[in-house]
Amino acid sequence: MNADAAVRNAVTEPMTLAFDVTVTAVEDLGPNFRRITFGGYCLRGFGVSGDTLDLRIKLMIPSLDGVGRPLPLPAFNTGDAGWYQEWLAMDPTVRGSMRTYTVRNERLDAVYPEIDVDFVMHFDDCGGARGWPRSGVAGSDVDGGSTHPTGGPAANWALAAKPGDAITIIGPNNRAAHCITAETYFGIEWRPGLAQRVLLAGDETAVPAISAILESLPAGITGHAFLEVPEAGDFQDLDTDADIEITWLARGAALARARPHGELLKSAVRGAVPVPGWVGIVPLDGAAGPEPEDVDVDQDVLWETPLRMDAAAIEASRNPGLPAGASPFYAWIAGEAGVIKELRRYLVRDVGIDRKQVAFMGYWRKGKAEL
Ligand SMILES: Cc1cc2nc3c(=O)[nH]c(=O)nc-3n(C[C@H](O)[C@H](O)[C@H](O)COP(=O)(O)OP(=O)(O)OC[C@H]3O[C@@H](n4cnc5c(N)ncnc54)[C@H](O)[C@@H]3O)c2cc1C
Repeated sequence: MNADAAVRNAVTEPMTLAFDVTVTAVEDLGPNFRRITFGGYCLRGFGVSGDTLDLRIKLMIPSLDGVGRPLPLPAFNTGDAGWYQEWLAMDPTVRGSMRTYTVRNERLDAVYPEIDVDFVMHFDDCGGARGWPRSGVAGSDVDGGSTHPTGGPAANWALAAKPGDAITIIGPNNRAAHCITAETYFGIEWRPGLAQRVLLAGDETAVPAISAILESLPAGITGHAFLEVPEAGDFQDLDTDADIEITWLARGAALARARPHGELLKSAVRGAVPVPGWVGIVPLDGAAGPEPEDVDVDQDVLWETPLRMDAAAIEASRNPGLPAGASPFYAWIAGEAGVIKELRRYLVRDVGIDRKQVAFMGYWRKGKAEL
């Protein structure tokens, strides 16, 4: 595509499109992860230029009782965000639910294009992903009473998914996204600039994103990746050329002895990025950085990434004048919002890390369904 065509497409093409795909494979990766492969010729129009990294997509999950087709495709594909209000106004038992997931792998250049999405099979909304009905039959019950499994709509759908099932996904339109770099596409947050040392930390919902990011990193990048998952059987083999130490953390399969969600992750991050030695010696209110503004994670989404920082937050960061890409260190942190909030306070206030060097993302909130 020549430069003129690229600019024209970037202006006229919607950035995202809806794709009607079908399930082509279902594979259990571990006790709490299920990989679902989606295929369709329409996926030839899906994608970004370069690696997908932490590319997020929306899955239009059909309701277990509903008809499963949320809106006619043209309603999504006009590029007009008005479809969302129209969709929200529909009866939820008909429209189903919209949920956010990560593209784990893509084979978009294949004759029959496919993407893989790795689902955390959570069936305990007290925050654990422990034990799910292996029968795989939606409508079977987990705890002996209800008609449906007790996960959220997406986990329930994944439990029952089988080849041939239809679903609509909303993702990047490659005619528009090819005109920009993957780094600037709004569905990708990983943006290390020129950082040579990185920290990746997340719970099981961030495993697909962290894995895809690690696979994309070149040799010479150093740092740590911490992945907290429910149990040791969930550890996966990851490939990276980078010189990054990858540490899997298992909360423990036995409910009674399992560590609280995020405890291991917080402690690992504290070990890898310690409070500077001068804190407490130089009197600065006992902290190395400013107190970040409070975010009520039960009401608001905790989503603070360098790409999305507003002017006030940039002003409040420690090195407001730092040019893009000049940071020697970059961190990407995602998972349960309450845990991410604590890590944000630790890294920004206690360690004094410049907020332009860290992406903090609440991927889900304990006890709260995604809207
Ligand atoms: C950018 C982004 C990318 C994401 N990528 C992935 C991904 O690739 N794979 C993935 O599995 N998830 C991913 N998530 C998280 C996923 O969107 C949420 O877990 C979502 O809430 C699941 O929808 P649901 O319908 O199953 O549950 P919901 O209806 O949203 O929630 C029902 C109940 O389950 C609880 N709950 C939700 N998720 C979990 C969980 N993981 N463990 C325990 N309890 C939970 C909620 O607190 C609530 O009480 C991502 C989120 C974001 C924002």
